[in-house]
Amino acid sequence: MNLAERDIKHIWHPCSQMKDYETFPPIAIERAKGLWLYGSDGKKYADVISSWWCNLLGHCNDRINSAVKKQIDLFEHVIFANFTHEPAVELCERLALKVPAGLSKFFFTDNGSSAIEASMKMSFQYHLQTGSPQKKRFMSLSDGYHGETLGALALGGVDLYSEMYKPLMLDVIHVKAPDCFRCPYGMTRERCTAQCFEDAERTFAEYGHETAAFFAEPLLQGAGGMKIYPPLYLKKLRELCTKYKVHLIADEIATGYGRTGVMFACDMAGISPDIMCLSKGLTGGYMAMAAAVTTDEIYNAFYGDYSDGCAFMHSHTYCGNPLACAAGVEVLKIFDEEDIIEKANKNAIYFNKIIREKFADYEFTGEIRNIGLINAIELVKDRETKEPFDAKKRLGYRIYKEAVKMGVLLRPLGDTLYFNPPLIIEPCDMDFVTDAALAAAKKVLTKSAIAD
Ligand SMILES: *Cc1c(COP(=O)(O)O)cnc(C)c1O
Repeated sequence: MNLAERDIKHIWHPCSQMKDYETFPPIAIERAKGLWLYGSDGKKYADVISSWWCNLLGHCNDRINSAVKKQIDLFEHVIFANFTHEPAVELCERLALKVPAGLSKFFFTDNGSSAIEASMKMSFQYHLQTGSPQKKRFMSLSDGYHGETLGALALGGVDLYSEMYKPLMLDVIHVKAPDCFRCPYGMTRERCTAQCFEDAERTFAEYGHETAAFFAEPLLQGAGGMKIYPPLYLKKLRELCTKYKVHLIADEIATGYGRTGVMFACDMAGISPDIMCLSKGLTGGYMAMAAAVTTDEIYNAFYGDYSDGCAFMHSHTYCGNPLACAAGVEVLKIFDEEDIIEKANKNAIYFNKIIREKFADYEFTGEIRNIGLINAIELVKDRETKEPFDAKKRLGYRIYKEAVKMGVLLRPLGDTLYFNPPLIIEPCDMDFVTDAALAAAKKVLTKSAIAD
């Protein structure tokens, strides 16, 4: 049996219909370097989705590898209650200098969803302990994505992931997210004054008094379709949250670490959230670790004698894992010493330019949108009306299969093709991946292919 056959026998893959694997078996990877994954089939694949958006500085980055190796020979893990270690402390010291003003306390968890869950509990408990026990509901944006555990799933607004589980979920209040491509106010990105914010105002007027926190992915709704919305909206959201004493919780799990062209997307709007969730890039994509970063004010509401019963009694086995922290420290050193964001921003101009040149003129290109190195191409059936393709045709999935054959790992979200490469991607690789993506899209989107 080859590896793919042995795999199918026992493994249940994430976010997959396993029946698909019978005709399109999993690709076995033997090693990886930089942008490239090397398969046991002798082929190589450009990882332009950063392996689910986490790989930041390339696979097998020499500096991160040696930092982790150095740490593993010292010790691999230790309980993080009552114990500490240099990598965790150094990571927080370094990050404290980079996070938006006012954020100073780091609570570690072991994946993105668990950072979201911890934030929900933290916000609820803060209000309970500061005289507002009625604040026990949560708000979030429609089309948001915050993870897969039940609390995080309830905050999310992507039906594909959450619809089925609604009977199990908290009753979260959803505010209609900005939809800049199909703006209901008929505005364009250039002329936008965030009129759509009126839905948030209405919703806060009705539910603000009973709401503990508002969760949002700042500027970029990732899993919801790589939707990009203006900083002005986020600024207004900050003001509204403050007015109603609702915590603003920025889910920077996907947007953090330079993905949007600045260290954190909140920076672009010049705002500070009350809690910021980090994961993915936090370890350079090396290890499962996350953090909920918060203010002294929230921290202080949990401070007292043990007998007061006001402590945050939340833990995850691997929180503060030293290997993950060592990777995280090295990531920040590399950011500082190698001008990673500046270089990425320079390359981002070229990336967006060639994507526009190659894709703009096709009938199937509804919108090309970009932020940082992230570029998304929303495919449509009709350019004039922006009518989407029939989801049942699974065109995005078919493009994915074609592109993989050509050596490019894309993973379209529905019919939105996107690139979210490691920040170290080079222009020559940009040429290659965009050519392959276009060829794959053209192959699938020919009239005959759409018709069958
Ligand atoms: C990936 C992601 C999460 C969930 O993180 P996991 O580590 O997969 O649990 C939450 N929010 C956003 C915005 C994400 O992109």
